[in-house]
Amino acid sequence: MSTVSHDKLSSSAYDFIDEPYLEGLLSGKPADAEVRDVIKKSLAKEPLSVEETAVLLRAEDDQSIERIFDAARQLKRDVYGNRIVLFAPFYIGNECVNDCRYCAFRRSNPDAIRRTLDQDEIRRQVEALENKGHKRLILVFGEHPQYSPEFIARCVRQVYSIRTGHGEIRRVNINAAPQDHAGYATIKAAGIGTYQVFQETYHHETYAKVHPKNTRKGDYLWRLDGVSRAMEAECDDVGIGALFGLYDWRFEVLGLVAHSLHLQKYYSVGPHTISFPRLRPACGVNLDQSHFVDDDQFKRLVAVLRLAVPYTGLILTAREPPELRRQVMAFGVSQIDAGSRIELGGYTEAGDTQTIEREQFQLGDIRSLDEVMRELIVDGYIPSFCTACYRLGRTGEHFMEFAIPGFIQNMCTPNALSTLVEYLVDYASPETRAAGETLIQRELEKLPEGTRKSELIDRLHRIRQSDARDLYF
Ligand code: SAM
Ligand code: SF4
Repeated sequence: MSTVSHDKLSSSAYDFIDEPYLEGLLSGKPADAEVRDVIKKSLAKEPLSVEETAVLLRAEDDQSIERIFDAARQLKRDVYGNRIVLFAPFYIGNECVNDCRYCAFRRSNPDAIRRTLDQDEIRRQVEALENKGHKRLILVFGEHPQYSPEFIARCVRQVYSIRTGHGEIRRVNINAAPQDHAGYATIKAAGIGTYQVFQETYHHETYAKVHPKNTRKGDYLWRLDGVSRAMEAECDDVGIGALFGLYDWRFEVLGLVAHSLHLQKYYSVGPHTISFPRLRPACGVNLDQSHFVDDDQFKRLVAVLRLAVPYTGLILTAREPPELRRQVMAFGVSQIDAGSRIELGGYTEAGDTQTIEREQFQLGDIRSLDEVMRELIVDGYIPSFCTACYRLGRTGEHFMEFAIPGFIQNMCTPNALSTLVEYLVDYASPETRAAGETLIQRELEKLPEGTRKSELIDRLHRIRQSDARDLYF
């Protein structure tokens, strides 16, 4: 029984996941030359088809896998440089009408402690986040009539309005239930960045198994079409994702690529980001482990995704433990969360431990933002809180025009360095500040001489010497 009216689907709505076809692409070993040809195309920054992606997924021998890793590292450097964008998740409410088997917020979980933050609680959480140095948040909601588009929009506006010292949130993204067109328009009007909806699994039978039929989320097509409706409601900045561990990881990668190609075909732009959460232990969840993804498979899936969708941001979350995060970062990740707490109210109420009844699942990395920043800096990355593109309207189709060589050097690196100096001056520990200053000198030396560089040096000076903040190209 579907609980959703389908006259509200997008104009491009159909079930484009041709399961037998995609499954068929996954058998047999590819020839060496085939793997090399696909990698070559990818290094020329061309998006791959599902057939080409499947060639990489079928490569099992050590040499091909190493080749895929090397290419992913190189492509990441070419397209994104050495920046990593940082954000934090902010859980607003865990009431939920759905019954997803893997999630602690599911309605049939009697042990979940249910809570929706009120305005005062939201303010305190955001102040705590700002005082740590965060500038970008993703607001997370269960699916519940209480979390209407108007409610979500109100939360977004409130978050933007909260200031402490030099602290402010400059970009609010959303991870919530898929909406109808009007719902997206209402939320977009509050000034959101990306709207994320994860399909969880593209495999129909598995989807039906973990999302009971008599729930809103039980409707596969309504969810598959979710970000297409967002596109049609002028929310052209969308994120897709799969929850790895529910079904064969290689099939899910093909599902994500098929979804990206569908959006590209109908809306001239693919998703802004792809997420690849791996199943984590959660309160009262006891799942079939036959499709759990081990660390080696996880690295492969990230590298193959990098090669398949060269211009799409890849998000690696704190579900993963620190050491693995460190390794996978090099394979093409462009955004990570840090200093994350996912208990409701966790940024002021949680100590150094996690309380499983209060959160959706357990995190693998609960280090502080400062610690993660320092590790990134020591590893040679530029941590960035940049929000320039979305604020200057460089999103959707327009963003693709900018994601070209030269753009990084002229815009992204300077903006990353400005936001890093803000962090170092306003929030960093002495050790992180020292490491950061060394990195900034090194990065400045790499930038070509010219007016852009002089302007940047002047800006960095102003941030250090005055209240000047939020300067971007
Ligand atoms: N309720 C909305 C929904 O389901 O789309 C909002 C997002 S939900 C709070 C965020 C995401 O967390 C889900 O889309 C799912 O991929 C992921 N998630 C749920 N349970 C998880 C678990 N046990 N381990 C890891 N990720 C999980
Ligand atoms: Fe609810 Fe989302 Fe959890 Fe499903 S994944 S139970 S919809 S919060």
